[in-house]
Amino acid sequence: MWKELENKLNKSGRKWEPCEGYMSDRSAKLFCEKCGKSVGMHDITYTNLESIMYCGDCVQEYIKECPIKLDCGTVISDHGAFVEMEYTDNYYSRMVVDKTCYFNKKGRYIKAKGKRYYI
Ligand SMILES: [Zn+2]
Repeated sequence: MWKELENKLNKSGRKWEPCEGYMSDRSAKLFCEKCGKSVGMHDITYTNLESIMYCGDCVQEYIKECPIKLDCGTVISDHGAFVEMEYTDNYYSRMVVDKTCYFNKKGRYIKAKGKRYYI
């Protein structure tokens, strides 16, 4: 594994394991913060290690009833690790995008238009 990525992982303080085979120089196995189950291999070059990771089961408790109104748009469906958001401001007449959810100690948020929205 590349030293730079290994440093990034170690600095994040999270549990990880190296993996073998395809893309092993840039990928690592990561684990659910809550139950410790593997959440699979991740390309560390692109992974936001500041966000806590949850497995498909543990993320369920974050799922909210939709729609959720935000000042930049509306969350129309909630999948736990990502949501579908419809922009309803002046820039787009109707545009639906998938938004990755990030997790920290305060809860779950999405980034939209340079702002964090806790949902
Ligand atoms: Zn879990």
